[in-house]
Amino acid sequence: MSVFKKVKNTINLLKSVDMDQLAKINEQIDLSEAMKSLGQLDERQLKGLMKMLKTKRKKGQSDLPPIDGDFYNLDLKLTDEQRKLQMEVRNFMEDEVRPLVNDHWNRAKFPHEIIEKFKKLNITGVPYEGYGCPNLPFLMEGIIAQEIARVDVSISTFFGVHSGLAMGSIYLCGSEEQKQEWLPKMQKLDAIGAFGLTEPNVGSGVAGGLETTCKFDGENWILNGQKKWISNATFADVVIIWARDEDSNQVKGFLVRKGNPGFKAEKMEDKMALRIVQNALITLTDCKVPESDRLQKADSFKDTAKVLRMTRAGVAWQAVGCARGAYESALKYTRKREQFGRPIASYQLIQDHLVEMVSNLTAMQTLVFRLSEMQDADLLTDEHASLAKVFCSMRTRDVVSRAREVMGGNGILLEHDVARFVADAEAIYSYEGTKEINSLIVGRAITGYSAFVN
Ligand SMILES: Cc1cc2nc3c(=O)[nH]c(=O)nc-3n(C[C@H](O)[C@H](O)[C@H](O)COP(=O)(O)OP(=O)(O)OC[C@H]3O[C@@H](n4cnc5c(N)ncnc54)[C@H](O)[C@@H]3O)c2cc1C
Repeated sequence: MSVFKKVKNTINLLKSVDMDQLAKINEQIDLSEAMKSLGQLDERQLKGLMKMLKTKRKKGQSDLPPIDGDFYNLDLKLTDEQRKLQMEVRNFMEDEVRPLVNDHWNRAKFPHEIIEKFKKLNITGVPYEGYGCPNLPFLMEGIIAQEIARVDVSISTFFGVHSGLAMGSIYLCGSEEQKQEWLPKMQKLDAIGAFGLTEPNVGSGVAGGLETTCKFDGENWILNGQKKWISNATFADVVIIWARDEDSNQVKGFLVRKGNPGFKAEKMEDKMALRIVQNALITLTDCKVPESDRLQKADSFKDTAKVLRMTRAGVAWQAVGCARGAYESALKYTRKREQFGRPIASYQLIQDHLVEMVSNLTAMQTLVFRLSEMQDADLLTDEHASLAKVFCSMRTRDVVSRAREVMGGNGILLEHDVARFVADAEAIYSYEGTKEINSLIVGRAITGYSAFVN
């Protein structure tokens, strides 16, 4: 048995131990003495003891299986090294992030202190080659997105925007000098990035309708306009701004540095989802950007689209993490919560909900796994990424809503986590291409007819 299988078995065993019960037993007997005595029993005596203990169980109660949202054991497809990294991220999220998310979500604050701790994991810019990046398969980027979102979707959005959209724009569209300047410090999280594409008047229609303009005055580019919804932008060191060139009418990308006097970022308040994410309304007023800070390989919206294609798969994985977190919380709750003298998990109608949830979750997981395999094999097209984004964000809505339902009133309390997943699933549903826009992309691919309005 591999080291990781042993670790996993031990973790599963520990997960299945009811710590409250254990503490109660410990009050009545000296557990360490009991363990010593048990160790001295032979196999026959142990079996006899187990039989006696089993007869004392309540009717309908058996050894409970571990709570694990990976029903088809996709983790067995990972290498030992990959599973080690997966567990490191999971433990980090459980130990460092879970204890503080509900409070920060409630207050709409970003926990800046976790950035320092995140650095140790070395999981930024996972798939990129060079510039200090790990250069691991896209599959690992997906696994990491799932693990982060399993605990909190806001933190996974912060991370996806920085590592995917912002670093990805520089990696795919930047010159060698721009990559050398930004990617190593962004990889170490010493500089944080944001990605400014959406505008107050232009969301789904960004491909042809950007109102933010840029114009070269012979020395600098002058940017004017507004950007809305820009995650991380209130504190980012660099924001990638996409703007339409007044002369060529083509979309260009710019590295706008923190402190630029023509750049103003105001925090958007009163969101009902992803409250930890600091979204900004950006106003650019004669914002001067030198030619050296124009992304040198971004000549039209086709280049922007390359970045979106690369990151859309990550959003599908995020949806899976959100669904997994909600399913696992709900399953745990239904096994503990008793009504009419029995755990509600033992009732047929509750099991029906749980099975619907795990079916959806397993379908999503197998789909995104294949999606990442295709990305790693360089077979990924826009429509592949769009299909995964549509399917996973729809199914996640269903999973989180059932998770809330089986928890009754407690399902709407933040303390049980599921309420947060319900709200956050709404944002996943709409960002990085809404359900309709991604459906139109898939529809065009399978029918051969574009239903987009030009
Ligand atoms: C929490 C959060 C974080 C975000 N972070 C960022 C970020 O960091 N950077 C960034 O640039 N953007 C970001 N966004 C913006 C996001 O990408 C947009 O919200 C998204 O693209 C949809 O645009 P919209 O909200 O303007 O909706 P609209 O485009 O106004 O759409 C409204 C509705 O009309 C539908 N619709 C539009 N066109 C069509 C059509 N042709 N046919 C049928 N239906 C149609 C849409 O599907 C939707 O249902 C973020 C959004 C959220 C919610």
